[in-house]
Amino acid sequence: MKIAIGWLYPTLMSTYGDRGNVICLQRRCQWRGIEVEIVPLRKSTEIAEFNRVDIIVGGGAQDRQQEIVMRDLQGAKAQALKEKLDQGTPGVFTCGSPQLLGHYYEPALGKRIDGLGLLDMVSQHPGIEAQRCIGNLVFEITASPIARELTEILGEKPLVIGFENHGGRTYLQDVQALGKVIKGYGNNGEDQTAGAFYQNAIATYAHGPLLPKNHFVADWLIKKALQRKYERQIALSPLDDSLALAGRKNMLRRLGLAISEVALS
Ligand code: GLN
Repeated sequence: MKIAIGWLYPTLMSTYGDRGNVICLQRRCQWRGIEVEIVPLRKSTEIAEFNRVDIIVGGGAQDRQQEIVMRDLQGAKAQALKEKLDQGTPGVFTCGSPQLLGHYYEPALGKRIDGLGLLDMVSQHPGIEAQRCIGNLVFEITASPIARELTEILGEKPLVIGFENHGGRTYLQDVQALGKVIKGYGNNGEDQTAGAFYQNAIATYAHGPLLPKNHFVADWLIKKALQRKYERQIALSPLDDSLALAGRKNMLRRLGLAISEVALS
């Protein structure tokens, strides 16, 4: 089996270390003997490249870079990305990239940046004087059907551990929240929503990067991608995740959240 990972604007959208998501997907495939191709989706990329990827990864960026990306992500490219996500291509979009999948992002300085309007949500930066949302983030995935699917695999509530660093606040409209905040700010520090979920696309403020800290989300994306591509059920072979699990346990303990208490609450 083979998988093509599309990486949106690798140089412009990599300010916060989200390339770790690409590496995590790549390694978890390779350890299982699944061949991986990483396809950079950048300014010079042809539409055909957008069309052929099996998973899409988008990272965080600063306001200035987001503006450059949005100037490029127009017309046929925007359409190709929209169609892929509409049709269920799995994707993980962190921080700056979900802001661009919504209707718009209003930066602290400068003009509103129009987004793709794929996720029914808006993002606004309350201004340079406003405090940024920075710190460890923990949320429970509650969106359907991903919450149920992950709960079945894990045998407990799917908790995401990450780190957030954003000035923008996101307000969901007619789109499911990916989860409910347990610790941290989440989408806006007000309504306890964390991220958004659309078809098989995960939008989140969780850096970390997200996938190495939450390996089960990486496997969910890989499985969805392979099932779509090969049009059959796929069972991923288990990996030794003892180190990742120990790290998660330790992190939850540091944050004052004993894993069993959170999982059972
Ligand atoms: N520029 C956006 C903000 O500050 C996104 C930041 C990020 O991607 N971490 O809200």
